[in-house]
Amino acid sequence: MNNTKYVFVTGGVTSSLGKGIIAASLAKLLQERGYSVTIQKLDPYINIDPGTLNPYEHGECYVTDDGAETDLDLGHYERYLNIPTSQANNVTTGRIYQSVINKERKGEFLGKTVQVIPHITDEIKNRVQILGNTGDFDIVITEIGGTVGDIESLPYIEAVRQLQWDLGEDNAVVVHLTLVPYLAAAGELKTKPTQHSVKMLMQSGVSPDILVCRSEHEISDDIKRKLALFCNVKKQNVIQSLDAETIYDVPNLMFKEGLDYVVLDKLRLSTRKQPKLTAWNRFLERHKNPTSTIEIGLVGKYVELHDSYKSITEAFIHAGAANKTKVNVRWIHSEELTPESAIQQLEGVDGVLVAPGFGDRGIEGKIAAVQYVRENNIPFLGICLGMQMAVIEFARNVLNLKDANSTEMNPKVAHPVINLMEEQKDVTDKGGTMRLGAWDCQLTQDSKVFEAYKQELISERHRHRYEYNNEYKEQLETAGMKTAGINPKTGLVEIVEIPTHPWFVGVQYHPEYKSTVLNPHPLFVSFIKAALKQSKK
Ligand code: GLN
Repeated sequence: MNNTKYVFVTGGVTSSLGKGIIAASLAKLLQERGYSVTIQKLDPYINIDPGTLNPYEHGECYVTDDGAETDLDLGHYERYLNIPTSQANNVTTGRIYQSVINKERKGEFLGKTVQVIPHITDEIKNRVQILGNTGDFDIVITEIGGTVGDIESLPYIEAVRQLQWDLGEDNAVVVHLTLVPYLAAAGELKTKPTQHSVKMLMQSGVSPDILVCRSEHEISDDIKRKLALFCNVKKQNVIQSLDAETIYDVPNLMFKEGLDYVVLDKLRLSTRKQPKLTAWNRFLERHKNPTSTIEIGLVGKYVELHDSYKSITEAFIHAGAANKTKVNVRWIHSEELTPESAIQQLEGVDGVLVAPGFGDRGIEGKIAAVQYVRENNIPFLGICLGMQMAVIEFARNVLNLKDANSTEMNPKVAHPVINLMEEQKDVTDKGGTMRLGAWDCQLTQDSKVFEAYKQELISERHRHRYEYNNEYKEQLETAGMKTAGINPKTGLVEIVEIPTHPWFVGVQYHPEYKSTVLNPHPLFVSFIKAALKQSKK
């Protein structure tokens, strides 16, 4: 048994209160106080992972180094903590049931009736403790997805109840995030929804130690006292969380409110070392005081839900701060973009990012965007499908292979410049079967990417089935689309560039997943720098 302490974060009243940001901010403060911390998300849905979910359902699918397809909150965890997460950091109900059922089939339950309690809850408890048992962390923060009162959250709350006993009083703390709404007509903040959601938690045997109250207005001492009284917590453990100007303000706000202090106090851990947030605040300073503003066109088919591109827009913020530049995003729906409308829709943007995606909806719009930026010398970054569209556009309009396409869009295409990967040919299952996770890439020295990364061998995360077709490599290169990076083992082309263009880079991998506050991604930094230059023209 090691000494890992556990923080559980539950949510009440409504979804979208920003549990992930609160968990990440708390983790950041604890990390700054010298503790090693990780964060885990338990998702109560039955999908094995969010990899098969449409982004409209759940926002972006975030990919880790070890190739796990995970919830977008893991992106926040990495961006705040600057340490990688893994499959163990995201568990769904589907995964829990899958392992319990597999064990049942192997006869591991020795003839017992398999039930939610204890078998499902035991599996949840194991998954929570896996990270702690590595011995790598002083504190594990476990965020329970969903809202207290949801039927599907019940086994998780029950597991927390049991874990509090198993771990002991000083080793576990429950933070409940709730909403204190303001009723304009009454001119009052209302505590009743919080009282009810705490009551619901208590009915399941879990009594929160700390309340974090989201609110649009200052929560007075009186209201804190009332919440403390009705919800059975200490008054100093009622923490207000006001709407912030940026999510990156939240660690400072939580420090001011003493969230990290009350958590450590409950866990009987030292509070002597203060969090400094020096590098963090340096980033904030640059982020909040930009000397220039640019506009980037983000071309994608899920633009109605900005969360679908969370890591990309956050990477813009990090790279913007590095360039002391405010990056405004012009959201452009690829289905509404045509070669004719590209001029108006893209007019005045300083750079264009063509986003990842699947299937043929909107791809002609993406191709039109690439053509426009290529011909008009506007900085371009194509990610995954965006890179593939750049290759197709070049093949069609420069090589004059008019019917070039990806076999994803047309399996019988005459010029398959993007092709299904060999190892994908026998794959029939959709879940978890793409080329996923971190792979090496060898950069060409004389290239934009080498200038950005300043190193020859990089490792980036992937999520795709289709690839650049090497049969067209010679033609593409001769016509001016250069190969700037390949997988050293397989020879797969990972990066294309057009050296005659001011900044035109397409990457098969997803650089956005690795951008953090303290390590803004070099490729994004370089792209924003190029866009900044374009804006001054
Ligand atoms: N649909 C493309 C493929 O599978 C691109 C995937 C992506 O953009 N993530 O290769």
